Amino acid sequence: MQYKKSIKAYEKAKEVIPGGVDSPVRAFKSVGGTPLFIKKGEGAYLVDVDGNAYVDYVQSWGPLIFGHSDKTIEKAVIKAVKKGLSFGAPTKAETKLASLICGLFESIDKVRFVSSGTEAVMSAIRLARGFTCKDDIVKFEGCYHGHSDSLLVQAGSGAVTFGTPSSPGVPSDLTKHTLLAKYNDMKSVKECFKNSKNIACVIIEPIAGNMGFVPSDAKFLQELRTLCDKHGALLIFDEVMSGFRAHLKGAQGVYETKPDMVTFGKVIGGGMPVGAFGARAEIMDKLSPDGPVYQAGTLSGNPVAMAAGLASLEKIIDDEGLHVRLEAKAKRLVEGLKCAADEAGIALQVGAIGSMFGFFFNDKVVKNFDDALTSDTKRFALFHQGMLKRGFYFACSQFETGFICDAMDESMIDATIEAARVVFKEIA
Ligand SMILES: *Cc1c(COP(=O)(O)O)cnc(C)c1O
Repeated sequence: MQYKKSIKAYEKAKEVIPGGVDSPVRAFKSVGGTPLFIKKGEGAYLVDVDGNAYVDYVQSWGPLIFGHSDKTIEKAVIKAVKKGLSFGAPTKAETKLASLICGLFESIDKVRFVSSGTEAVMSAIRLARGFTCKDDIVKFEGCYHGHSDSLLVQAGSGAVTFGTPSSPGVPSDLTKHTLLAKYNDMKSVKECFKNSKNIACVIIEPIAGNMGFVPSDAKFLQELRTLCDKHGALLIFDEVMSGFRAHLKGAQGVYETKPDMVTFGKVIGGGMPVGAFGARAEIMDKLSPDGPVYQAGTLSGNPVAMAAGLASLEKIIDDEGLHVRLEAKAKRLVEGLKCAADEAGIALQVGAIGSMFGFFFNDKVVKNFDDALTSDTKRFALFHQGMLKRGFYFACSQFETGFICDAMDESMIDATIEAARVVFKEIA
């Protein structure tokens, strides 16, 4: 494969954009080589500017559950574009999308739309603080909740890859209210509640995808619920990644536990910039203009973005077998990878829920961030390079989750496993 045009485009981009990319995970820092510049996406495939095609297991880092250039979503977007790009006034599309979400989630009476996952979580945290009149928050090592100041502490993927667990530019005054706990470790959460009587909320990725793919234990989530209730803290599920992806109802379709608040992003916009946060009315009514907690956005609920989200969500809801089908494909992939790794004598931990999957080059089961960090990242880099060369595009870090889209068929997955078999032998 030739990457000449990508290399040239990257050199040019670096002159005017820091690192040549607008989000650090897009740089191939931890796997080496040049980020591929993309010309177009079609179904399961990405095509780069050199004309190489790849089976895409990144899917824009989550949003595209049907694959690239889905015709239904494309049509809806074009129709919306023709009526105007933005009004800064309410449209019925917002109510329609909000109603769909409220209908799906028992724990949600009202939602507000924003333009990114970061914004959704940042606003949810403010609301949790405003509602409880408390300041501290508990987050888990390795969970990523966007790049807002108080959440950029031990924040997984991008932050791990770049070795800046908390970033310069974030005053410690702004993170002193952020208490850290260990994922799947109740003792560490209890410790936080012992140390602070001022905890507004516990925020968690119920199916973590930003330290690699690490699901939570059902019992752990249930105990979190109990502990939050006991102390009058809100439990927030950050489902920016897992929402509509792990299951139609995200983690709430997989586990029994119900959160007080949920944040969405990625799939909810079908590829356009949309985020949202929702909760029961008692909480949401504290938000301005009804309540005192301020939150706003010029492009929030943008009509074109709403059209994409609505088309995507309606298509997901209409297709009852979707998540079962996606999970079967995800399992076929990770079980095939595991088999191929075994043959080569490589230790690989694999997992999948719905259309999310992950694998760690690790001889132990990964339950938390510390475990994830013991994975063999050098071997991952070699795997990534080997697969890319053969036309398979995986996320460029050991600490990311992979995504199946509906446009992927079994032959693509089997071809991926066959390629991996060769690569594993090379890197064993
Ligand atoms: C991607 C992600 C975010 C941030 O969303 P952006 O749209 O990138 O701002 C927040 N939380 C989780 C769990 C995510 O996966």
